[in-house]
Amino acid sequence: MTMPGQDRRLFLFGLAAATASAPALAQTSPGPASGGTPSPALIEDLVLANHILVQQGVLDAFGHVSARHDKDPQRFLLSRSLAPEQVTAADIMEYDFDGTPVDARGRTSYVERFIHGAIYRARPDVNGIVHSHSPAVIPFSVSSEPLRAVSTMAGYLGTSVPVFEMRDQFGSSTDMLVRDPKIGAALAKTLDQRMVVLMRGHGFVAVGGTVRLATMHAYYTEFNARIQADAMKLGKVTYLTEGEAAKTWQDNQVERAWSVWREKALAVQPK
Ligand code: MN
Repeated sequence: MTMPGQDRRLFLFGLAAATASAPALAQTSPGPASGGTPSPALIEDLVLANHILVQQGVLDAFGHVSARHDKDPQRFLLSRSLAPEQVTAADIMEYDFDGTPVDARGRTSYVERFIHGAIYRARPDVNGIVHSHSPAVIPFSVSSEPLRAVSTMAGYLGTSVPVFEMRDQFGSSTDMLVRDPKIGAALAKTLDQRMVVLMRGHGFVAVGGTVRLATMHAYYTEFNARIQADAMKLGKVTYLTEGEAAKTWQDNQVERAWSVWREKALAVQPK
């Protein structure tokens, strides 16, 4: 008998929960208090955002998406360490801002979960975060050319997207991962009040007032990077001015994009 993918995952999830109560793991210290049960609609958006961003070429086997907990602004929701394409509702874990899981039950966390906690702590306006290594964006993190808005769909990029340089504070021998709250705080400081920050030789982080907006900002960051690189090959590029970038901001269009992305993602949900 073959077990369908989702059932198998739920089955394994059950096994992991059972294992957590075994004596070998009994000394694990209890995590921070839970903020409560998140809304099923938020969990659905978060799971869908993972699948959408894979389908749209913004995430591959790596990268992750989180949501601020809708019942407790001091907590956030993020999958256990798993390729975004395989994330289901059962994989979503709850964390405090220091990246400590509320109830790990033996599940492994993403090494770079500190990106999320630090930004939620610094930015009360942010309720969704995407971390990606998408290929069109990385060249702008390692060259002298700044990523900036060239398309009306990416006005939120403004006239220059900041680049987080790990070496500035953490030396030239790190593994370049945001693997503790201190590095997370430094990244959040570079992001400042913007919607996107690049990470040199690594990727980027896009944020938004909702998971849907963070998804849209991540998608159009990759989109703008491709267009900007193509245009640069042709000659001198005309960019959006600060005023144009501010006025073309497309946040009110998010539902149109989300609707079509959602439909495509649902068509290939794990069975
Ligand atoms: Mn990364």
